[in-house]
Amino acid sequence: MTIELKDNQLLKPFSYINGSWHSSEAQLAVTNPANGKVIANVANAGVIETELAVRSAKKALKHWASQSAAQRSVILKKWHQLMLDHQDDLAQILTLEQGKPLAEAKGEILYGAAFIEWFAEEAKRAYGDTIPSPSTDKRIVVLKQPVGVVGAITPWNFPNAMITRKAGAALAAGCTFVVRPATQTPLSALAVAELAERAGIPAGVFNVVVGSDSRGMGKVLTQHPDIAKFTFTGSTNVGKALINQCSSTVKKVSMELGGNAPFIVFDDADIDAAVAGAVASKYRNAGQTCICTNRILVQKEVAETFTSKFVEAVSKLNVGDGISPDTDIGPLINSDAVSDVETLVNDSVSVGAKVVLGGERAPDSNNFYLPTVLTNVTNDMPIARNEIFGPVSPIITFDSEDEAIEMANDTEYGLAAYFYSRDIGRIWRVGESLEYGMVGINDSAISNVSAPFGGVKQSGFGREGSKYGLDEYMEIKYLCMGGL
Ligand code: NAP
Repeated sequence: MTIELKDNQLLKPFSYINGSWHSSEAQLAVTNPANGKVIANVANAGVIETELAVRSAKKALKHWASQSAAQRSVILKKWHQLMLDHQDDLAQILTLEQGKPLAEAKGEILYGAAFIEWFAEEAKRAYGDTIPSPSTDKRIVVLKQPVGVVGAITPWNFPNAMITRKAGAALAAGCTFVVRPATQTPLSALAVAELAERAGIPAGVFNVVVGSDSRGMGKVLTQHPDIAKFTFTGSTNVGKALINQCSSTVKKVSMELGGNAPFIVFDDADIDAAVAGAVASKYRNAGQTCICTNRILVQKEVAETFTSKFVEAVSKLNVGDGISPDTDIGPLINSDAVSDVETLVNDSVSVGAKVVLGGERAPDSNNFYLPTVLTNVTNDMPIARNEIFGPVSPIITFDSEDEAIEMANDTEYGLAAYFYSRDIGRIWRVGESLEYGMVGINDSAISNVSAPFGGVKQSGFGREGSKYGLDEYMEIKYLCMGGL
């Protein structure tokens, strides 16, 4: 290990199964995307360890599910507090393995921890129901019960929060949990497991299996008969394959998949607010979030003003190693990600898009792409059709409200959308017409624990966070009491 922390015990190079740390001969190198250096070698687990984790979770289920929500809440709140106590170390690990600026990593730790606290409280309010019976000799009672063992697969772009957003709800509901984190970012997941152990979460309730065999381990988590619920955050293509795999045992499934967020600036918008919102939404995590602005749609009358102010703001962003305090944009996750962005930009330029800022890799670097703005873009260009996952803003102009809505909805994705307008009638019309699970209106910071996060169309189904998030991990049971 080459990382120095206040608490070095948070660096765990092993999978965490049934309350024990599992080593293996095979090793997986975790590298820093900012410089390519190996920061840790982690035991490379596989199918056998994943099956062991599922068996452990099954064994632990009965006791954990039988606790009251209040009893589980006490332990979960300790876990939450430990994450806050170790925020700096957790953020450092996250930046070193993922690349995002340290300030963003610290924000992710607070955001991630907040889901544990939220659901520790929310599970106390998992109310059932009594329903008036159609006949006088019966009573109808509805209970909510934990689904059972949960299998989860998470991505590298939020290595902490994509786990806690699921695990907080699952554990609070009384489920047990096995997660396979992304290969590039296992250290954040393992640090969370170390804190779970310190918080007193019983053996087998929370398991982390780290390994490079995504297909093999994924098959266990989607096909094992002891797993009742499968939850995935990642790309739409992988999500589709995993939904298919889940069909063999008819699991309860939720999917948080890709996006293609439009950011619409109407002619009546507060342009300065729209510029600030667009910069924040697009360039966070170097453009590598599922709700990052993917296309900026600007009404013709304000296109020149918006574009010049936007380019000025973007040109001030500093590109560098996320660990350095003045960095605004860190590296992309790996050189393949940079190549993908390069291809989207070059292919769009070849059909008429114009680079007004950036448009290339940062000099002398593998994984850094310069913050980029493209104009002359149309909604059919590759940069507008695909999820960019990089620091590139394509600007598309439109004439009318109807045209903006049509362009915004013209995608198979439906995760997040944003628009800026001061007209109350337009706000309602557009808000109701956008085919997205989440819509930011004069605001681009839409993620928080109390709001339902999730998409429609091919961006997935199910909601995380909020009062709805717990339902993903609970079954409704109806008791019919007869012979009264
Ligand atoms: P990805 O390629 O789909 O990978 C996500 C996870 O799935 C990783 O752990 C990956 O493992 C694993 N995986 C890949 N192929 C698999 C297979 N055949 N079987 C089982 N597991 C498999 O996505 P990504 O590039 O890491 O993440 C970015 C995507 O996630 C974007 O599309 C983004 O929009 C989406 N995302 C969505 C949300 C949301 O809430 N809607 C949030 C964040 C990200 P390896 O690491 O080993 O490849």
